[in-house]
Amino acid sequence: MDLIGVTERERFANVGEYVSFAAACPVCRGEAPCSGGQALTFGRLEWSIEADCAVCGPSAICGSGDMPADLRERLLGERGPARLELPQQGARTAVIMKVIRATLNVELNEARKMLQAVQSGQHAATLPEIEQLARRLRAVGVEARAVRG
Ligand SMILES: [Zn+2]
Repeated sequence: MDLIGVTERERFANVGEYVSFAAACPVCRGEAPCSGGQALTFGRLEWSIEADCAVCGPSAICGSGDMPADLRERLLGERGPARLELPQQGARTAVIMKVIRATLNVELNEARKMLQAVQSGQHAATLPEIEQLARRLRAVGVEARAVRG
C-alpha cells in the first residue's frame, strides 16, 4: 500500500520506542549494555539493537518489518502495549479488513480474527505497529488512533 492520503505531516513524523537492557555481545557473547527498539520511519517499521561492549566496542544490527521476538517482548514489557481505537464502530468493515490484511500480511481468517480483536479493543501491539495501522486506516478515511494501555 502506498502513502496516498496520508498527510505530509504524518508522512514525516516518525514514532519510535526504545529500551535499554543488558544482553550478550553479538561478537564475544560477554554481557554488554544494549539499547534497542522499533520505529515507524516514513511509514515503514524498522528495528535496531545497539550493543556497547567493553571488549569489542560498539556494534549494531537492524532490519525492517518483523523484529526479533525477544526485543518485541522487552518493548511490550517495559513500555506497555498500545491499542487501536476506532471511534466509529461497525462501519466500513471490509475496508478495515483490507487494511489489516495488507499491513500485517495475514490470511483472510487471521484478518477476520484480528478485526474482531480490533473492534472489541483487544488488539494490542507495540506503539509503532499500532501507529502504522492507524495511519493506514486514516489514509483510506477510517477514523482510527493509537492509544496506550
Ligand atoms: Zn564483545
